[in-house]
Amino acid sequence: MKKYDVIIIGGGSAGLAAALEINKHRKSKILILERDAELGGILLQCIHNGFGLKVFKEELTGPEYAERFINELHEKGIEYKLNSMVIKLHPNKTVEYANVDEGFITIGAKAVILTMGCYERSAGAIGLPGNRPSGVMTAGAAQKYLNIDGYLVGKNIFILGSGDIGLIMARRMVLEGANVLGVAEILPFSSGLKRNIVQCLEDYDIPLYLSHTVTEIIGKNKIEKIKLSKVDNFIPIPGTEIEFEVDTLLLSVGLIPENGLSEVCGIKIDPRTKGPIVNESYQTNIDGIFACGNVLHVHDLVDFVTEESRKAGLAVSKYLDKQLAETKNMIELIPGEGVAYIVPQHVNIDNITDKVEFFLRVKKEYKDVNFVVRSGENIIKTNKKRHLAPAEMEQIKLKLIDLENIKDIKTIVIEVTK
Ligand SMILES: Cc1cc2nc3c(=O)[nH]c(=O)nc-3n(C[C@H](O)[C@H](O)[C@H](O)COP(=O)(O)OP(=O)(O)OC[C@H]3O[C@@H](n4cnc5c(N)ncnc54)[C@H](O)[C@@H]3O)c2cc1C
Repeated sequence: MKKYDVIIIGGGSAGLAAALEINKHRKSKILILERDAELGGILLQCIHNGFGLKVFKEELTGPEYAERFINELHEKGIEYKLNSMVIKLHPNKTVEYANVDEGFITIGAKAVILTMGCYERSAGAIGLPGNRPSGVMTAGAAQKYLNIDGYLVGKNIFILGSGDIGLIMARRMVLEGANVLGVAEILPFSSGLKRNIVQCLEDYDIPLYLSHTVTEIIGKNKIEKIKLSKVDNFIPIPGTEIEFEVDTLLLSVGLIPENGLSEVCGIKIDPRTKGPIVNESYQTNIDGIFACGNVLHVHDLVDFVTEESRKAGLAVSKYLDKQLAETKNMIELIPGEGVAYIVPQHVNIDNITDKVEFFLRVKKEYKDVNFVVRSGENIIKTNKKRHLAPAEMEQIKLKLIDLENIKDIKTIVIEVTK
């Protein structure tokens, strides 16, 4: 069996950034396994700009952003295999994959990094009522058809869900000559970034129906109409139906981290993020298996994915050099009032050199509140926030010294207070 220092599953922005970071710190035998025909992941179909403002201080398109990492990967001679689907991961870090040239192969590694990204929620996943004609698809699928394969999937389009992919596709479809009749969101607020609401809907006069959902799909072979209803606390209100004649309904109703491989391997999944539970080094409950990027939790900005994956890459190089402290002195992070999740979920204080950074999302919109970080009654930090929304990922940094000052610290709660 062929052996590597590190096997990286998924060649999107997370996998590429983690591989390059390991290579920066130590000479290692790294292999990236990518099931698609090219490296770059979801970025390849995101031909709009808005990528890289933080990492490159430039506004790039998705493919341009990916290209910078792919070029560097080639320069450093890091090995990768395309069209290679990982089928099984074992807790002893043996990986089974298959491709047309080699067939079914088993390889092993000292460390594995999970960077498989996420998938889109489908009509079945949200229990969409009505017929199942053609013309109903996820916004990401329509984006791939249009931007990679060159097919416009419809002319009269309605979008269910105000996630970022749907907002970006609303604008994209208009630019290609389609008629976008509206975007409906079941929540009373958008689940996409504010900048996308302005730049993709308001600038193109596309109506956003908040607190509305699709209550019927009409059409036998091909979708013909949809019925939209106002909702009260997720329940459709009778008599509020509006009909739209459409040939396409795009769904932008959420992303789910792709963790089939992780679950079968025995990696513990956080029900809040749907991604692995990790510590400050992005290590899962299985020794030597790490996770970063959208497989860990859904990110809205690729720059956060890159930063996180660089940290995971650095931790993996320390792990290979046996410089990571054992899993003791663990502090558990607990989402308090108003906080939906926190990543990482555990922190080993012995592995923090200077500061530790947490990513979190809130459950609903807030104005003029505080993020309070506390351990029991001890307030560690308070951050004032003028506006918080579930669509915007938040970051909180804690200094090692602040944690060391609290005796026998076992838990940290982060909560939203007035
Ligand atoms: C439509 C859309 C618009 C966006 N717009 C912006 C924007 O304007 N600005 C911004 O900063 N960010 C944006 N983002 C966010 C950002 O692009 C992503 O968060 C980031 O690229 C995710 O990187 P990743 O490597 O974690 O996942 P991915 O890019 O999804 O990569 C995962 C890779 O793993 C591979 N894989 C999965 N399973 C296996 C397996 N079993 N075997 C082998 N390979 C496997 C997949 O094929 C894929 O290539 C957008 C995202 C989307 C979806």
